[in-house]
Amino acid sequence: MVKKLIDVAEGIVRADFEYWVGKYMDKFYERLEKQQFIAIKCPSCNKVYFPPRKVCGECFKTIPLENCWVDLATTGTLVNFTATNYSVMERRKKKNEKTTIIGLIKIDGSDTAIIYPVLDVQEKDVKLGMKLDVVWNKKIAGSPGDIKGFKPVGGT
Ligand SMILES: [Zn+2]
Repeated sequence: MVKKLIDVAEGIVRADFEYWVGKYMDKFYERLEKQQFIAIKCPSCNKVYFPPRKVCGECFKTIPLENCWVDLATTGTLVNFTATNYSVMERRKKKNEKTTIIGLIKIDGSDTAIIYPVLDVQEKDVKLGMKLDVVWNKKIAGSPGDIKGFKPVGGT
């Protein structure tokens, strides 16, 4: 005897969903909403993560959610960068006339770096090690998009 195990139904399945970023990133985004930076410090090896993470990438210990948070300034140092005439977000767009600087920025007081545009600077004036300060977007929503980019401290 053969038993039929599978039925096939064709059509569109609508599946609305929401996801939660977790307790660590939730606290991080709460602070971004207040236009502040917060990091988490591993109590075992003292590495400071911005943005925070639950497990230390250095010593692999779980970082407790309580009593390990560190307030940071909104300034940092440019540790690497690239210059591009192509849009990062719109892959179908043709080459732009304007060059965008994408920086790897180590926030002061942290041991990790984040990637954001470096604003208000010409490519010829970008220098590794230059001090940068955050530029907030006009619309703040408690998300990575709250940060528009970083600009040189005191101009170029
Ligand atoms: Zn650690």
